[in-house]
Amino acid sequence: MTAGPELIAIPGPSPLPARVLNAAHRASPDIYGEDLPRVNLAVMDQLKRLAGTSAHLAPYIGNGHAGWEATTANLLDRGDAVLVLTSGHFGRSWADVVAAQGVAVERLDFGNAPPDPARLADRLARDRAGAIRAVMVCQTDTASGTLADIPAIRAAMGDHPALLVVDAIASLGCAPMRMDDWGVDVLIAASQKGLMALPGTAFVWFSDRAAARGPTGLTSPWWDWHQRAGADALWRFWGGTPPVQQIFALSEALSMILDEEGLERVWDRHARLARATWAAVDAWGGHGIALSVGDPAARAPSVTAVTLRGADRLRAWTARECGVTLGVGLGAASPADALRIAHMGHCNAGTLMGTLGAMQAGLIALRIPHGPGGLEAAAAAIAA
Ligand SMILES: *Cc1c(COP(=O)(O)O)cnc(C)c1O
Repeated sequence: MTAGPELIAIPGPSPLPARVLNAAHRASPDIYGEDLPRVNLAVMDQLKRLAGTSAHLAPYIGNGHAGWEATTANLLDRGDAVLVLTSGHFGRSWADVVAAQGVAVERLDFGNAPPDPARLADRLARDRAGAIRAVMVCQTDTASGTLADIPAIRAAMGDHPALLVVDAIASLGCAPMRMDDWGVDVLIAASQKGLMALPGTAFVWFSDRAAARGPTGLTSPWWDWHQRAGADALWRFWGGTPPVQQIFALSEALSMILDEEGLERVWDRHARLARATWAAVDAWGGHGIALSVGDPAARAPSVTAVTLRGADRLRAWTARECGVTLGVGLGAASPADALRIAHMGHCNAGTLMGTLGAMQAGLIALRIPHGPGGLEAAAAAIAA
């Protein structure tokens, strides 16, 4: 049953639209010609629209980890104090990276649950000297499938001078993000998740307040965001040779999101696909199967984390028998009994029902106890 299109339901890299692949399929043009710099500038404008900002934008050749390091290298110096709110594997890994760069990292850990703004407010209230320079948080921690309430976190910061830094790598283009309206100072994303493009580029948007910091002792020429955001030549945007084919791919993907479907519709599609996923898991549930995040408002619209006894066997079965690849249970208490279903980027009701259908077939084939009606529940959610 595996011939035909494969379904990849892992939370990154996400499925690539054929149009995006085709846009990248071209020989390198003259990088000193007029076409590529024009497309590059248009992509920068599209990326600002995507983030809801008129702030500065520095692009990097690299993945999400490069976005993390770029942010530290521009915003912080050795010994600076920062507070990282962690809700899972990605937030904890980010805190480790920032600490390894020499920053004094304090972790406010919420287990695999979304950050509690009240705890943040308490902590900042005790920082009378205003020593904490930044509050850092993943909008979606991709491992736990949580969605942080960014406006509530900003509100909890009150008039504390710390800057708000948000990792939106697994949420931009899936969950609402209004960087300027919400008072986000630095936003980090990468191309291979909600942006529907190839892996290999990271983006850091930064406010005037953030831009006023640095260069610091950690800023080297290649990482310097001012060089890139204020670039007057194509090579300066990218710190050297631009990722030519990726620029065309991004242009196509962002046009699909922003100009064809429309950003609000894209957010709405993700919300509806997520609700259908939750409906299926809830119907299967009660037999060692459960959604990892209890509160629907705290669940990511891009990826759903599930506890499921026998998850490893189920993932192997859907891949082998149906050509459907599910995400591993990263960071779960018992990873063999956890999995993640991505509904991120280039995903629709058909691909999601295919994923859920393969899962239900696997539950039956492997005699994993589950409740009835998972697919009916998902279909009803899509029909609603
Ligand atoms: C995927 C992801 C990262 C890491 O991105 P890479 O491209 O794998 O380096 C960081 N943070 C979040 C929230 C992610 O989902």
